[in-house]
Amino acid sequence: MGPFITGAGCATRCSAVTQRFPGRELRVHDHILKHHRRQSRAVAPALITVAQARALVLSHAVALGAEPVPAQDTLDRVLARDLRAAGPVPPLAASAMDGYAVSAGGAGRMLEVVGESRAGTPAGTAVVAGTAARISTGAVIPDGAEAVIRQEDVEVVGAGRIKLRTPVASGANIRRAGEDIRAGARVLRAGALIGPAELAVAVAAGARQLLVGRRPIVSVLCTGDELRAPGEPLPPGAIHNSNGPMLAALARRCGALVEPVQLLRDDRAATETGLSAALERSEVVIVSGGVSVGPHDHVKPALADLGAQKVFWGVALQPGKPVWFGTHGGTLVFGLPGNPVSAAVTFTLFAWPALRAMLGLPGADAPAQTARLGVPVARNPGREQALRVRLERDAHGLTASPTGPQASHILSSLLGAQALALVPAGEGELPAGSEVSLQPLPL
Ligand code: AMP
Ligand code: MG
Repeated sequence: MGPFITGAGCATRCSAVTQRFPGRELRVHDHILKHHRRQSRAVAPALITVAQARALVLSHAVALGAEPVPAQDTLDRVLARDLRAAGPVPPLAASAMDGYAVSAGGAGRMLEVVGESRAGTPAGTAVVAGTAARISTGAVIPDGAEAVIRQEDVEVVGAGRIKLRTPVASGANIRRAGEDIRAGARVLRAGALIGPAELAVAVAAGARQLLVGRRPIVSVLCTGDELRAPGEPLPPGAIHNSNGPMLAALARRCGALVEPVQLLRDDRAATETGLSAALERSEVVIVSGGVSVGPHDHVKPALADLGAQKVFWGVALQPGKPVWFGTHGGTLVFGLPGNPVSAAVTFTLFAWPALRAMLGLPGADAPAQTARLGVPVARNPGREQALRVRLERDAHGLTASPTGPQASHILSSLLGAQALALVPAGEGELPAGSEVSLQPLPL
């Protein structure tokens, strides 16, 4: 049975109430009650699951479109459309050896050297029966030549004459044009992340520019009167702003263009001004701290006043419960909890997949990898836990073991963490060996 309330007078201009609980009676003031009701509503939002939150984020994250970029500047960019080879690779039939271009035939032949084909400078003369052309690795095969004989298999018998020590099969030591890639063949697929190998293949296939996904412009705002810039001396009560550099680095590692980190004081007007400017200039705004229910947490009301639409606040996640996500026009807004590990975890679970999707990377919602727990883990009855783990592979697969204490302020256990292991909510302990899903950490 719940409490029931009866009215009575109050000196502080509210109507005093008596709240009767079964077996006891409490006299409280309704303004205090209201405050507590507000608070309890605020601290206990309807929590959605990590999977639901992620699906909601991804439903708002769309690829930003493509831009042409000089091929050599596309490292870590995402290809926006299939790339086909403009011509064959290699583009010419070339020698695989330093030696002589000859016709095919037996050993012991004496040949007259009639020219030279160097890399970049073809021979001027064709090769016919009885002649040869000196040739370097990568040089074009002269007309008439059927093979290349290695320098080591040839005896120079006089000025301009050679004797072949071995027989020469047709095609020996010749790299055929198009042997690697045919003209017109698809060499890279849309969605490919450009690494050094993709760069080399694209350029060899004739690309000058590549059409790649536009990079989202990201603003990172850190709220907190206690925050000081890196290295600044700390007056009493202050801490260094470690979230700013961390979140900016995480976003950069995802491929975003990150604006300089902004510090916001715990003040409503300052929060609104900072957020407003960030919403103007960015496609993703990441705010750290100030998103909870304390008297100095101004992010949510400021966002509401600026016209941002809440999609969710509160995920059944530990650490990282008070995470806010919403939109402002086409801009995605992530309000991440200030505790450093909560910020890293919520960035990884929610902002990272969104940035990937905006860049055009497929698979943001791909099925997760799994591992077995290396140790037993006490479960949280109401929330999924994200453990910082290192991974070890053996014959049975991956084992995930915590990197250290898991409290949300223990930054040092992010060191060496390769993934988050997601431990489902539940009672009791999840025994060692249980299967858990993994979220790789972009750390
Ligand atoms: P908040 O979410 O603002 O209530 O902050 C929760 C905790 O995280 C507090 O202990 C803050 O001091 C800490 N915190 C907030 N922002 C940062 C930051 N940028 N860098 C490091 N710690 C932070
Ligand atoms: Mg704060």
